Amino acid sequence: MMKIPDHILKVLSVLENNGFEGYLVGGCVRDAKMGIEPHDFDLTTNATPYEMLDIFKDYRIIETGLKHGTVTVVSDGENVEITTYRIDGEYLDNRRPEEVYFTRNLKEDLSRRDFTVNAFAYSPSKGFVDMFGGEDDLKNKIIRCVGEADKRFNEDGLRIMRALRFASCLGFRIENDTSESIFKSKYLLKNISVERIYSEFKRLVCGVDAGKIIKNYIEVFAAANERINDCADLFAENAKKIHKIKTGYLTRIAALFYGSKKDLAKKFMKDMKADNYAIGFVSDLHRLSFCKIDADKISIRRLMGDFEDEFILSLADLKGIFDSDFNRDSFVKEYKTQKDLNPCVKLRQLKVTGQDIISFGIEKGPRVGEVMSEVLNAVIEERCANDYESIKSFVMKR
Ligand code: ATP
Ligand code: MG
Repeated sequence: MMKIPDHILKVLSVLENNGFEGYLVGGCVRDAKMGIEPHDFDLTTNATPYEMLDIFKDYRIIETGLKHGTVTVVSDGENVEITTYRIDGEYLDNRRPEEVYFTRNLKEDLSRRDFTVNAFAYSPSKGFVDMFGGEDDLKNKIIRCVGEADKRFNEDGLRIMRALRFASCLGFRIENDTSESIFKSKYLLKNISVERIYSEFKRLVCGVDAGKIIKNYIEVFAAANERINDCADLFAENAKKIHKIKTGYLTRIAALFYGSKKDLAKKFMKDMKADNYAIGFVSDLHRLSFCKIDADKISIRRLMGDFEDEFILSLADLKGIFDSDFNRDSFVKEYKTQKDLNPCVKLRQLKVTGQDIISFGIEKGPRVGEVMSEVLNAVIEERCANDYESIKSFVMKR
């Protein structure tokens, strides 16, 4: 029924041969049922962590989080995470349970999971377990909380972002009570770390239904990050087009801010504690989105001097979708031509050094750099060839 790799089957049979239950659980079962290859396999069992240490004593074991019931068993060289059936204790901070309790009852473990389509279990010997109507919801493409939505979002506000992410990525709609509760509970996102919000947001913007979800839940996103309030209408409008962007999540984020006020994208990325590369990438895209980008060889060479390949392709993608004056096809064609020609576009590609410039009669100091830049400009514009003699006579003639 479900294709399971041998190293996982081995772990499941160790559990069963020792009298315990073992199931695949969560996302991998959902994905398999949808015909998507699971990217990882989570296992759950009624064995306690210490019982696992005992029955897997012939295996290499990593004590990942004994307190939370998680043990990693190395099976055929692969890490397999197994977690004891668990009930979460009181949630006092809308984030994490104060304590977790182990249980021997699978249903109790499934009931703490966020959405019905994430609350399946499967074992080759026992088949599918669906105690919360996940099968129907999966068939009807619905994201629905397990249990009472208000309560579930109150326990863990991140589930709001997860609901939106799953809806966007799976192309599901959000069931009414769950949806209403998302709006009602949006203020809880204030208690959630930006890193966790951003990691959901990154995935969400790449989803098949990203545009629809962002537009329909714009006030929820604005509650997660108040910068969005400064451009909410534009953000929602731009969202309608982001499915056309093929160059990755950073271009998609820049697209959402397209045309919004200066620095807003950069501030957003900083709020989200994105890494410096991502902050630079998005804020440069946002900045350049206000500039006219020409498709002639000289303009393209200037871009090549300032930016790497990936960025230029993202810029073309973005402009091609949002700027009707930009001719994407002729830009990309000329860009490819220039890349093949590999022209000199950077100072360090010049065939002279600062020492050479001095030997051509330029006084040591800041003038050397200025003259180098003039030379580069002339080389890019083909007013001077990039070889020692040509540059020498260019500098002497100035
Ligand atoms: P994917 O790995 O594709 O993002 P997933 O459903 O496997 O999707 P994980 O974050 O890997 O998501 O979590 C594994 C499972 O753990 C989920 O399917 C769900 O059952 C449960 N889970 C994860 N996070 C939460 C949460 N915040 N609240 C309740 N249950 C959760
Ligand atoms: Mg997973």
